[in-house]
Amino acid sequence: MPASTDITEWAAEESAVWEIVLDEAWRSYLARGWGVGAAATVGGQILSVAGNATDPACGSSFFQHAEIRALSGLPSSVHTVVTVYTSLEPCVLCLGALTFCRVPEVRFAARDLSFSAAHRALSQAPILGTRVPAMQGPRNGRIGAFCRLLPLVAEIEHGLGSQRFGLEERLCPRLLDLAVTCIEQHLLSQYRLASGERAWPDAIKLLAVELDAAAQDLEAAERTLRRLQIL
Ligand SMILES: [Zn+2]
Repeated sequence: MPASTDITEWAAEESAVWEIVLDEAWRSYLARGWGVGAAATVGGQILSVAGNATDPACGSSFFQHAEIRALSGLPSSVHTVVTVYTSLEPCVLCLGALTFCRVPEVRFAARDLSFSAAHRALSQAPILGTRVPAMQGPRNGRIGAFCRLLPLVAEIEHGLGSQRFGLEERLCPRLLDLAVTCIEQHLLSQYRLASGERAWPDAIKLLAVELDAAAQDLEAAERTLRRLQIL
């Protein structure tokens, strides 16, 4: 795998987990899910993996989120010792499930601006705040931008309204532009037709320049939101 798509840039000892999380996110996107992948681990050992399996067009359950599916395959006694890796910052549904199950730690690749405020709000709640998992992320960079791009493309393909992307429009316009370009020019959906099961490194290489530009926006957005104490 060339350096431009090398996850070891994030953390060498975690690269095997992140590659599987990316595999799941990509598989989810190809299957018209939301393009998010997750893994539950203990001591670096992967116990379960899953991708988002929500496809409104097929009437599949709206609750088939990657993190919830990864937890669902485990006995509840394990929940309190797992570290959950996910390609996208947990949404409120998943954050609720992770908190309910007392998962101690979540590591996420890309931030989801729409849901970022939820963790801070929940953490400040009396008693309940002690159960909220510690969050580590985002990872940013080219691959981080790709992890945000996949669900963004999926959401737009599924017809989500433009209001959902107000923050992206203001804070990371180049990522939103790239998502629209991907859809108009079939830059990602082409892999659905070409049995591109393990082709996410190829997709990252294809979009490298645009992803690097989008990563700059994402990193600037991160600094802005931290300065405003929204994160
Ligand atoms: Zn979720």
